[in-house]
Amino acid sequence: MAKNNFVVDYKTMSAGRHEMKYHLDGSFFALFAESEFQNGKVDVDITANISEFALKFEFDIKGTVEVECDRCLGLFDLPIEGYFELNVKFGDQTSDPAEADDEIVLSHEETKLDLAHHIYEYIVLSVPARRVHPVGIDGLPQCDPDMSATLEVLEAHDNVLETDPRWDQLRNYEF
Ligand SMILES: [Zn+2]
Repeated sequence: MAKNNFVVDYKTMSAGRHEMKYHLDGSFFALFAESEFQNGKVDVDITANISEFALKFEFDIKGTVEVECDRCLGLFDLPIEGYFELNVKFGDQTSDPAEADDEIVLSHEETKLDLAHHIYEYIVLSVPARRVHPVGIDGLPQCDPDMSATLEVLEAHDNVLETDPRWDQLRNYEF
């Protein structure tokens, strides 16, 4: 997947509504050196409204990204969903794309807009802060059983260290 697949050549496009559909996978995330995701399957439906004076893009994001579970550290496909709007105005100077998520300014000299960075940002914004394996029919997260067992052992070990009075004595001991 090449980065220029996401370039909108708006000067050559007719005024009105245009629809674009992308089926993104790991090769999209590989375009971003700093990407926190390596794999995923994300459908992005973009509606572009083009006029002489402004551009408006609507992004519908739906799919999964592979993340590390907060609980067991195992990788799993986390469902994501989001809707975002990007309003583009024309001005004297092109704005920094990192400055705002929903509004940018393009200078009158520009003729094209690369949406790749915006799509990536919107995918990141669609990912919930809490990332835990989905809950199964037993009402518990479907965590990797091996990893969960290891974590429980580690937690139990930590508790022993915290409550064992010998450690308190050692802590008070002045070397
Ligand atoms: Zn898990």
